[in-house]
Amino acid sequence: PYDVLVVGGGPAGASAAIYAARKGIRTGIVAERFGGQVSDTVGIENFISVKYTEGPKLVAHLEEHVKEYDVDVMNTQKVVAVRKIDSGLSEVELANGAVLSSKSVILATGARWREMNVPGEEQYRNKGVAYCPHCDGPLFKGKKVAVIGGGNSGIEAAIDLAGIVAHVTVLEFADTLRADAVLVKKAQSMSNITIIKQAMTTEVLGDGTRVTGLQYKDRATDEMHVVELAGIFVQIGLVPNTEFLKETVGLTQRGEIVIDGHGQTNLPGIFAAGDCTNVAYKQIIISMGAGATAALGAFDYLIRN
Ligand code: FAD
Repeated sequence: PYDVLVVGGGPAGASAAIYAARKGIRTGIVAERFGGQVSDTVGIENFISVKYTEGPKLVAHLEEHVKEYDVDVMNTQKVVAVRKIDSGLSEVELANGAVLSSKSVILATGARWREMNVPGEEQYRNKGVAYCPHCDGPLFKGKKVAVIGGGNSGIEAAIDLAGIVAHVTVLEFADTLRADAVLVKKAQSMSNITIIKQAMTTEVLGDGTRVTGLQYKDRATDEMHVVELAGIFVQIGLVPNTEFLKETVGLTQRGEIVIDGHGQTNLPGIFAAGDCTNVAYKQIIISMGAGATAALGAFDYLIRN
């Protein structure tokens, strides 16, 4: 068996694998797609100590760093089940039927942004359609943008963006905002934020290269409206890739894996890190730190058991 088997090859998984391998223990990493969300990212300006990089370049560096160590990398392999067996070992089952066993497991399967699923969204992704205000906000300096979603993340995004961009239009589907009252009050007090409720976004508009606006339907009147803008931040939720773990480890209502300060789940020997967990913020640098924590937690577990 492996000593540490990491599931997921994003920043959290790569970091966990490197930290584990550096302890001289038998380490493997299974990933559906090595690189994770970073593979879909263009400019990265908040990976501290690197002023600017791009997703594919960072993924290449991650891969190079992992390969410096004796790590079994099993890329393009999907894990369909994880279970603890009587011997105390864990079994990790792959979609191709293979079953790997390990003394400890680190789950680092990440998350995906919930999409609007409207025409134009896919075409203009990274060309005006964005999901991470911390990451992409500065790209829209002085321009008009929209935030889709009036929950906490949407209203926080609007407040954050209002300090950078010219104007923010918030579109909320329901007739009330779900965000905390204190955030709503703050947003309402800012002169360059407009909040529109009962608005169903129906299409992302563009000129073939970049976003130029969006179309929405007023659900109260059924009237269609067009807003001209340069960017659209979709803030309708982050979905953790944990569907296959429902029967295995403790999850929050939102499906995030619950971990303690050592990155351990409710099952001894099964750890988790990064966007798939209930960590407060989801970022590359945070995921890498969490991967390191989980690997050190797993090592601690191994020397005690
Ligand atoms: P992920 O990167 O999601 O990696 C998950 C890994 O698990 C992948 O390898 C995936 O294939 C694998 N996996 C999932 N399910 C399975 C399974 N069943 N079996 C096997 N493998 C599986 N953050 C920043 O800090 N700065 C930025 O500029 C930035 N820009 C972003 C731009 C975009 C468009 C997006 C989508 C995100 C951005 N983020 C940014 C957020 C950042 O990418 C994430 O916080 C980070 O990638 C999370 O790392 P992770 O390792 O936890 O998960």
